[in-house]
Amino acid sequence: MSGADEVAQAMQKAGKVIATSHVNPDGDGVGSLLAATVFLQDAGKTVFSCLPDLRKYPPQYEFLPGREALLEPEALPESCDVFLALDCSNLSRLEPLEKAFRSAALTVNVDHHEDNTFFADVNYVDPTASSTAELVYRIAEAASWRLDGRAATCLYAGLVTDTGGFRHRNATPSAFMLAAKLAAAGVDVQGVAREIYESQSLPYTRLLGIALTRTQWEDDLRLVFSYVTQADLAETGATLAETEDLIDHLRRVKGAAVVALFKELADGSVRVSLRSGDRLEVGPIARLLGGGGHAMAAGYTTSKDLENSIVELKDALRDRHA
Ligand code: AMP
Ligand code: MN
Ligand code: MN
Repeated sequence: MSGADEVAQAMQKAGKVIATSHVNPDGDGVGSLLAATVFLQDAGKTVFSCLPDLRKYPPQYEFLPGREALLEPEALPESCDVFLALDCSNLSRLEPLEKAFRSAALTVNVDHHEDNTFFADVNYVDPTASSTAELVYRIAEAASWRLDGRAATCLYAGLVTDTGGFRHRNATPSAFMLAAKLAAAGVDVQGVAREIYESQSLPYTRLLGIALTRTQWEDDLRLVFSYVTQADLAETGATLAETEDLIDHLRRVKGAAVVALFKELADGSVRVSLRSGDRLEVGPIARLLGGGGHAMAAGYTTSKDLENSIVELKDALRDRHA
């Protein structure tokens, strides 16, 4: 039995499901979660969908069908038949929800991160999949759930964002085939692109300008980096939840081996996003510094302040080069 069949069977048996995705959610996190929500609701299940911190829901995904169903962790029931974690590589990615996870009769982990820790009872993990959205599609097929325009739109949002608009190496033939099926199911491809890529706020546009002006180049490491401070957020009125694609702008610099973006959090700690410019894999570097992710896109959070977190990354990169 395939992983998709196993998850489909578990879902078919369940009455009450809690579904969630990771902190600092991205397009694949919310897209796969909302698609699963729509599928499960249509299948007659009682679904409690939530995110570890709903306040950080990125505004560019507000338009997705099913968004209105998302709950705060406090609103979850005491127990459930199945707890479904989507796009989470380990349990700490859904930290405030650990109690709900422990109280579930069955836990299910659906993910495509290569560093997934197989933390659930049922683990459907496929690092060759473009996105968790692709895995949710396979589960829906195995369960014979009907694909309507709503679920297709959520899956497409996950697919298009995790492949960087079909530009990354996970833009595989099967990713393109899924895109075709989703388009055929009624996705407004232009509308989704407009919502996700052409609806940024004026405050974030100005913040982007500040961050791009600060871009630095570290010659020996071929490192391109910039940073965003709490003061920048206050000055522009932008929020960190809006900054998911900021690093993609830094990624456009020719010749970079590693691209990094440092984001100062409210408590002074720093969230670091890493992307591979070329062949050097950033996943192992993120893991070394306490985080994780994919080979070409990874991240971590450090308790160091902004200045020292930049030093910490440079040191880690130098050690790897040495
Ligand atoms: P981001 O830079 O936040 O877009 O994250 C890029 C990738 O790294 C995503 O696949 C995340 O799931 C993963 N990632 C980011 N931060 C962490 C972390 N602290 N622990 C594990 N994985 C992470
Ligand atoms: Mn994700
Ligand atoms: Mn993903």
